[in-house]
Amino acid sequence: MVNENRLVQRFIQLVQIDSVSGEEKELAEFLKSEFALRGLTAVEDRAGLVLGRQAGNLLVKIPGNKNKPGLLFAAHMDTVEPGRGVKAIKEDDVIRSSGDTILGSDDKAAIAILLEACDILIGSNIDHPPIEMLFTISEEQGLLGIKQFDLGSIEARMGYVLDAGGPPGTIVIQAPCQNEIEYIVHGKSAHAGMNPEDGINAIQLAAMAVSNMPCGRLDTSTTCNLGLIEGGIARNIVPDWCRIKGE
Ligand SMILES: [Zn+2]
Repeated sequence: MVNENRLVQRFIQLVQIDSVSGEEKELAEFLKSEFALRGLTAVEDRAGLVLGRQAGNLLVKIPGNKNKPGLLFAAHMDTVEPGRGVKAIKEDDVIRSSGDTILGSDDKAAIAILLEACDILIGSNIDHPPIEMLFTISEEQGLLGIKQFDLGSIEARMGYVLDAGGPPGTIVIQAPCQNEIEYIVHGKSAHAGMNPEDGINAIQLAAMAVSNMPCGRLDTSTTCNLGLIEGGIARNIVPDWCRIKGE
């Protein structure tokens, strides 16, 4: 059973550990020691070293006592600014910050839940599959931590990322994403009147490439647009470059 008081106290404890993006060390160390108290190891990867951050991603594996496919749960350790010196204030059933910082429930509510789940599993004989818990760094800066994480170290083939709004029970199964396209076509410059045969026109090459690219609505969930083009330096010079940007 969920111990509500324990969960609330732990949430308050977590939000009061500063962990703005790039400065997750104190929280990472806290989680390592919390899992160690439960006989579990939080393995830190090299993402912090690669990114020049204080700490890396943490992966905890809880052995299953049931022969079922494993499950992954993920949350991020970092918060946005202003997230230093957070003071949690609990009034009735609401926990808020003191007003001059964020609270950091994104994503410490998830971390508190995962620690509570861990305690429930350890303190009971509930059958459960192998469970992996992943705590990432610098999510708020563009998923920097998870991009450095070795996904091959995860055994579960199914997982939940606890990091979304909406009523309890809401599961988000897909979200829009955008990829930016920028390509530069290189040619060779020459004087357009004196020796055009020595040049390679990058704008013409780019036009040939663009005319072969599908644009607009590609299928029910994908669109493509080329929205910017620039190139060349003068009307009488064969352009040796052309840049096209789209999404
Ligand atoms: Zn989040």
